[in-house]
Amino acid sequence: MRRVYLDHSATTPVDPEVAALMMTYYTEKYGNPSSVHSFGREAKQALEEARRQVAELIGAEPSEVTFTSGGTEADNLAILGTAEALSKKGKHIITTAVEHHAVLETCEYLEKNGFDLTIVPVDEEGIVSVESVKKAIRPDTILITMMHANNEVGAIQPVAEIGKLAKEHGIVFHVDAVQSLGKIPIDVKTMAIDLLTISSHKIYGPKGVGALYIRKGVRVAPRIYGGGQEKKRRSGTENTPGIIGFGKACELAGQRMAEDAQRLSKLRDKLMNGIIEKIDYVKINGPLGDKRLPNNVNVSIQFVEGESLLLSLDMLGIAASSGSACTSGSLDPSHVLLAMGLVHEIAHGSLRFTLGHQNTEEDIDYVLEQLPKIVDRLRMMSPLYDQAVHAKQAQ
Ligand SMILES: *Cc1c(COP(=O)(O)O)cnc(C)c1O
Repeated sequence: MRRVYLDHSATTPVDPEVAALMMTYYTEKYGNPSSVHSFGREAKQALEEARRQVAELIGAEPSEVTFTSGGTEADNLAILGTAEALSKKGKHIITTAVEHHAVLETCEYLEKNGFDLTIVPVDEEGIVSVESVKKAIRPDTILITMMHANNEVGAIQPVAEIGKLAKEHGIVFHVDAVQSLGKIPIDVKTMAIDLLTISSHKIYGPKGVGALYIRKGVRVAPRIYGGGQEKKRRSGTENTPGIIGFGKACELAGQRMAEDAQRLSKLRDKLMNGIIEKIDYVKINGPLGDKRLPNNVNVSIQFVEGESLLLSLDMLGIAASSGSACTSGSLDPSHVLLAMGLVHEIAHGSLRFTLGHQNTEEDIDYVLEQLPKIVDRLRMMSPLYDQAVHAKQAQ
């Protein structure tokens, strides 16, 4: 059976070149980078080369990159670390309604512990307005934390404008760029970003590695204490093979970004247009064109359940993801789609396809061949679909 992986926003395969490089740091060059002997020095050197590669992709200085265990830890370090460092200055934090749980839950934890939280809404495309962030700013605001591009609908946020605003008000600006890294350009300097979260496994690097960019001079209190690695910002023996893999993945992403973006946005549009053409009662979620990540398709298909669609696709070898995060048995629809104003029933029938480096035209053809058949079959069981079709015919 054909297998088509279209869930690259969940994770990506490790690039073979990355995996091969990592292997040598498990079995041959396994020294602890803190050791003074030659084994340690060779690991340290490779670690610093990785730091340079990561820094280069985001326009930072290597000394501004702190390695972590992933995007989630970097988000926690940014938010909790800023809250602790600046709590005497103020206790107000601004975030948005469409954040990843790593940001939302961390902010909500602070809210339960004496901080004030303002959650800024989004428009129907999932985009935050600079004006609404501006209105939320108070004299005691210490942090604005938001994403660069949304993981569910691919909406790209106006981070450079909001960065400028934050700077004018002396507010620390944290951006979660896990989904945008390697897909669209990021420059922490021109975007006026103080803290930037990135993760390796979304860009063809290994899982369990990420980084927080911390602009020189910005204070972030550590969350993990111990041996003082990473300039005391994140103690613990470094995951050297993982970090070295992350560095290589950043280098490759920088080389491939322009070409991948162009090719994938064509495939993305082919998939979106094909779905609109072949299936009735569908709605594309999120913005179109340049305001959308080149690899993201998110569509609501009325009168079907997202979960049923996913299972049927999976039986045909197609891996997608559902807009409704079905956590711990509850069938709550995605907070992102609800924030964009979708009603529960529509949000429930949502599917996300996220394309990657290896996807081809044939992959998209396969989905466009199978998906309409699945939808037809599932809708045969839907009395609501029957009613809608009859009502339309009666008009
Ligand atoms: C995947 C993701 C994260 C979490 O990163 P991990 O490395 O998996 O912990 C954070 N933010 C966004 C937007 C993500 O897509």
